[in-house]
Amino acid sequence: MSVDSPGHQSGVKSFFSGVLRPKKSRQVLRKSGASNPNLRQTASRQGSKLSSDFDGNEGVPDLPPLAPLEAHRLKYRALHSQVDKQLGERQDYTTMFHALGIQDNSESAGFVAEDDSFRPPGDHDVASLSAELWAGIAMYLPLSDAAALALASKTLLQRLGTGYFSALEDPDHHRDKIGFLVRLDSQLPLHLLCFPCARYHRRIKPGQECLQPANVVDPIFSCPEAHNSLNPPPRHRLTHGRVLPFSFVQLTTRAQRFGAPVYGIPAEALSRRWKRDGWTHNTRYLVHQNRLLVRVVSSGFADPGMPLSAQRMLLYSREDYWPFFSACAHWRDGELMDACKCALGHIPRPRATAGLQGAEARVRDAFAGRAYNPNSFTTLCNKCRPMRRCPECPSEYLIEIRLTEDKSDPRSRHFRHAIVVTRWSDLGDGSSPLTSPEWAACNGESSPDQPYDSFAQLGRRSISGIFESAFTQETIPGQRIISLNPKGVKLGENGHGWY
Ligand SMILES: [Zn+2]
Ligand SMILES: [Zn+2]
Ligand SMILES: [Zn+2]
Repeated sequence: MSVDSPGHQSGVKSFFSGVLRPKKSRQVLRKSGASNPNLRQTASRQGSKLSSDFDGNEGVPDLPPLAPLEAHRLKYRALHSQVDKQLGERQDYTTMFHALGIQDNSESAGFVAEDDSFRPPGDHDVASLSAELWAGIAMYLPLSDAAALALASKTLLQRLGTGYFSALEDPDHHRDKIGFLVRLDSQLPLHLLCFPCARYHRRIKPGQECLQPANVVDPIFSCPEAHNSLNPPPRHRLTHGRVLPFSFVQLTTRAQRFGAPVYGIPAEALSRRWKRDGWTHNTRYLVHQNRLLVRVVSSGFADPGMPLSAQRMLLYSREDYWPFFSACAHWRDGELMDACKCALGHIPRPRATAGLQGAEARVRDAFAGRAYNPNSFTTLCNKCRPMRRCPECPSEYLIEIRLTEDKSDPRSRHFRHAIVVTRWSDLGDGSSPLTSPEWAACNGESSPDQPYDSFAQLGRRSISGIFESAFTQETIPGQRIISLNPKGVKLGENGHGWY
């Protein structure tokens, strides 16, 4: 009973009922519907609805459609049901043989190849308009679209002429020429569009293309511009000495977009593992909804209690002062490097054992009833634990301190703390480096009038979540994602925070 109610009694009973009454503020925060559903009411309501449906002979009501996340889980649960959770190995090889026959291309949304073989011929309608009128129509189109229109049929070519094709050869119209050539991609499976020359080259080893380190010469096609350093092919820097040429983004996404393996190579063929400068890296790729996603895991052994100079030696290369791990073009702005240094500061220091200090510490531990473990797990703080998302490109970072086996000396293998920086990125749909916003953003080449806003583009779906759920049936614990550059200060190399 409430104190304010009209018929309240004064005394001890009403005092206690007033004290134990729930606060008004708690009632405001609680939703009556979703979090505290009244099951009995809902069940009786549904029961009466069902019975009314059956009375009216309208049949069984439709099941509610699955939520997208649940549908995704169901799909991958079925895919991974025979895979060992710990080792990633197939438990039943018959499933593997059957899976080889089923190529699920249902996710290749975005590009739908139109089958126009049954369309009635429209040449008569096209021919009914005069050449001047068609030229007037083409005047309103960009050059690439006008050239594509002229190529559409023999009648249109007669009406529009070949002037648009010769105009595309002008070096000033390089961008238009690429826009025109990209449309022919589906008809040239054994060729690949080269962007520095704006022409199709024949692939040297179709299906056998191999991603090599940056210092290995292994061309996909023979290109006259290959050795012209003033006109380099588009590529993305992964780590020191490792780049991903745009040709490989083309090859992997084309194979899925056009639904035939002959167009390219599978994304799994790009995965690599290598060591350099004391760091171990491994990469893995996934084509999701026609866009190539990459994960780079880099780990380097770190000692406890490192001074700032030693942290810099561990994190930065002395050659170009880039971090050893994989980073997007915007790593200097924001808190990525501060968070790495913060994580290094959490590695537990070994105990001082000089003189009687060790004995004293052991006695203290015995009294407190605790065990000292120099290899204990490291807990990170609020600054370095959350996942970070770059606000200017589709990249996400996770910093961890892991206990990793050091195998450098085969006679004394032991576990050491290592800093592990994982980066997930979306490298775009591989159509063209000029039109793919994700590719431009990852390379820091977004146009200033159309900046990429990753939080608006990605929303609540994280790249890391999409990537990891494609390889495991486990539910991945949610990780808080915060901005890499919460203050939005963009100083680049001129800033002071990055070193
Ligand atoms: Zn070329
Ligand atoms: Zn921290
Ligand atoms: Zn970025």
